Amino acid sequence: MKKNIFTREELRSSPIGANSLFFKVVSCIKDVAWEVGMNYYNRKIYDISMPITMDMPVYKGKEAKKPIISVESDFTTGTAYESSIKMNLHTGTHLDRTLHMIPGGNTMDTLILEELITECRVINLTQVQDKITAKDLESKNIQQGDFVLFKTRNSFEPILEGEYIYLDQSGAKYLAERRVKGVGIDALGIERNQPGHETHLTLMEIGAHILEGLRLAEIMENHYELIALPLHITGTEAAPVRAILIK
Ligand SMILES: [Zn+2]
Repeated sequence: MKKNIFTREELRSSPIGANSLFFKVVSCIKDVAWEVGMNYYNRKIYDISMPITMDMPVYKGKEAKKPIISVESDFTTGTAYESSIKMNLHTGTHLDRTLHMIPGGNTMDTLILEELITECRVINLTQVQDKITAKDLESKNIQQGDFVLFKTRNSFEPILEGEYIYLDQSGAKYLAERRVKGVGIDALGIERNQPGHETHLTLMEIGAHILEGLRLAEIMENHYELIALPLHITGTEAAPVRAILIK
């Protein structure tokens, strides 16, 4: 897509001739900048977050993890509509901090936002039946510094509370050896029935971010830009995230 950068009048009044090398270089730079800008705003945005509702799927179906959303005032009781929410911070799409598993670990306060605005790779693991192991990841060409999001059959299940696909310790170790920047999964827990929390701990030890509760049914295996900013709730070990992919 080409655009005339200067009007004829601007060209006429310019001390630089339209055929000079300087003019051509400036014109070319402006054309490139314009096209990059156009492409950015034309890109598609995919919402990969769970809607928050009172009957949404929650971790292991535990009643205490279901959000309570209530109307504090409406137009029958006042002049403004106001609601409140009570919700476990690991309900819905969220980011874990190391305090979740490590006493004295880090919280939302020290999060570097730039680390959650990043390139990422969605990796298709929909063929996995029980858990993601190192063997499942070997053919995926995962590189140092990748931020990987695992798309599994969880994304196609309306309820991901019970026997969901998770990342086992061998898979976490494989990712830690490659020093990934972050791991996301379409389950409410990145691990399942691991009393020692080995998967969380293995990833936390290398400083990898953990995103849980993603919805990836519509997302093809590919590279994307990820924006996954959690609420800044001071001192907490997790926070809700509105996660999007941009292509
Ligand atoms: Zn969590």
